[in-house]
Amino acid sequence: MATAKNNTIKLKFDSARKLAPAPESKSAAKINPRYDLFINGKFEKPSSKKYFDTINPATEEKLSEVADANEADVNKAVKAARDAYENVWSKMPAKERAKYVYRIARMIQERAREFAIIESLDGGKAIRESRDFDVPAAANHFFYYAGWADKLEYAFPNRRTTPLGVAGQIIPWNFPLLMAAWKIAPAIATGNTVILKPAETTPLTALKLAEIIQEADLPPGVVNIITGAGATGAAIVNHPDINKIAFTGSTDVGKIIQRAIAGTNKKATLELGGKAANIIFDDAPLDQAVEGVVNGIFFNQGHVCCAGSRLYVQESVFKQVVQKLKDRMETLIVGDPLDKNTDIGAINSKQQLEVINKYIKIGQKEGAEMFESSCALPGKGFFCRPTIFTNVAQSNRIAQEEIFGPVLAIQSFRTDDEVIEKANNTPFGLSAGVWTDKGSKIFNMTTKMRSGVVWANTFNKFDPTSPFGGYKESGYGREGGLHGLNAYVNVETL
Ligand code: NDP
Repeated sequence: MATAKNNTIKLKFDSARKLAPAPESKSAAKINPRYDLFINGKFEKPSSKKYFDTINPATEEKLSEVADANEADVNKAVKAARDAYENVWSKMPAKERAKYVYRIARMIQERAREFAIIESLDGGKAIRESRDFDVPAAANHFFYYAGWADKLEYAFPNRRTTPLGVAGQIIPWNFPLLMAAWKIAPAIATGNTVILKPAETTPLTALKLAEIIQEADLPPGVVNIITGAGATGAAIVNHPDINKIAFTGSTDVGKIIQRAIAGTNKKATLELGGKAANIIFDDAPLDQAVEGVVNGIFFNQGHVCCAGSRLYVQESVFKQVVQKLKDRMETLIVGDPLDKNTDIGAINSKQQLEVINKYIKIGQKEGAEMFESSCALPGKGFFCRPTIFTNVAQSNRIAQEEIFGPVLAIQSFRTDDEVIEKANNTPFGLSAGVWTDKGSKIFNMTTKMRSGVVWANTFNKFDPTSPFGGYKESGYGREGGLHGLNAYVNVETL
C-alpha cells in the first residue's frame, strides 16, 4: 500500500504483522561430535592431541570440537600436498582434473541443504542467505573453474601456463564455504595442490567439504583441510615448501603475512578489509537505492569486506532517504538464523559483538546521531540491532575504520567532485556503489573512484566470472573470473 505525500511515495511495510516462525530443521544436517584434520585424503588426529569447541553464536551452545593443528601437522599436510603435486596432480591431463572439480560442484549442489544449515548454525548467518547465496555461489565457483581447467590456452592465448605448486590458503569466518570455494576451485583446476585453513569460529562447512572431497575420490593430498587458530595460519605462511599464499582476512593479519613472505619467492594474493562508499544521487530511484543500502550494510550482519558501510546521500534527498531507510530498518527481522523469516542473524562471535558495540559507543562519543531499529533481540546468543549514524564527520572513526557489523555511517554531499573526494578518502579501496539514473554519471564516478569493484544501481552482486579484489589497504591480486586463474599460474610468452 502506498500514499502520496510531498510528491513522494511513502511505502508502508506493514511491520506490525507478526510472522509465524518458519524454522529450518536442524536434523537435516549431520554434525559429528568431533572432527580431525583432513590430510592426504584421510581424517587424522592432530599431533597436539588438542581440540577446540566450535559453537552456535545464536545459542552459545557447543556444536562440535575440531582439531588444533600444530607445526608438525602443517608439515604433514604440506608434504602430502607436495607429493600429490609432483606425482599425480600436475601430471594428470587437464580434462581429467576438470572432472574432479566438476564432481565437487555437483556434490555441493546435492548436499546444498545440509551445507546451508551447517553454515547458519556455525556462523550465525540467516538461512535464507546461506541457502540462496553462499552455497549456490560456492558450487558455481567449482563449476566455473572446472570449465577452465582444460582451456587455459584460450584464457592465456599465445602463452604457456604452468601451475605454481603448493598453495597455502587461509580464510575468514564471514563466508566460510564460499571463501573455501574461491580459494580451492581455481587452484586445483589449474593443477596446484592446497592446504586450506578455515577460521577458528567457522570450521564446519570446510570439514563437510573435506568429506565431499573424500567421496569424490580426489587423489589424496590434492586438497588438505586443517583447522586451528592464528598460529596454524602462521605456520602455513612460514612453511618453506609452499609456493603461494592466498589469504582473505583482516588488513592487520595481511600486513603480518606480507612481512613474513618478504624476501621469499612465495607468491601471494591478499583480500583484506574495506570501507565501501555507497553513493545516492538525487536522480536515483530512491526506494530501489534504499533496498541497495539495506543489502549493502545489513547483508550477513554487515560481516562483509565489501559492505557499503559509508553512505553518501545528495543533500536535496538526504532527509527523505534517511527516513525511508529508518522505516525499512523497522521491518527487518533480527533473530534465529535458522528461521526462514530472519533477515539479520547472529553476530559471528562474542568477540566480534564486542568490537561492534565498541564502535557504536565511539560513534556516540564522537557526536554522531544514532538510530537503531526498535526490534527485540533474542535473550541468548550474540545479536546486534541494525544501526545507522547521521551527523557523521569524515574524520570520525566510524567513517574511517572497518566495523564489520550492521552499522552504517551516513553523510551528505552536494557535488560529484565532493563525493568522489570523500569516497576516496579512506585507506581502503575494495568496493563502492553508485545510484543514479544517468549512465554518464556512473562512468564519471567509476573511473574516478579507487575501488576494485563499483556497483551501479545495485550492490553486493557476485558472480564467479567477475574478478574481485582491492586497492590500497584492501590488498592485492584478484579472485574470480580469468584474473582468478592468473593468480595460480606462471605465465610464459611463447
Ligand atoms: P583475521 O585476519 O583475524 O583472520 C583471517 C584468517 O587468518 C583466519 O583463518 C585466522 O585464523 C587466520 N590468522 C590469524 N592470525 C594469523 C597469522 N598471524 N598468520 C596467518 N593466519 C592468521 O580476520 P577475521 O577472521 O577476523 O575476519 C574479519 C576480517 O577479514 C575483516 O577485517 C574483514 O574486512 C576481512 N575480510 C576481508 C575479505 C576480503 O575479501 N577482502 C573477506 C572477508 C573478510 P583464526 O580465525 O583461527 O584466528
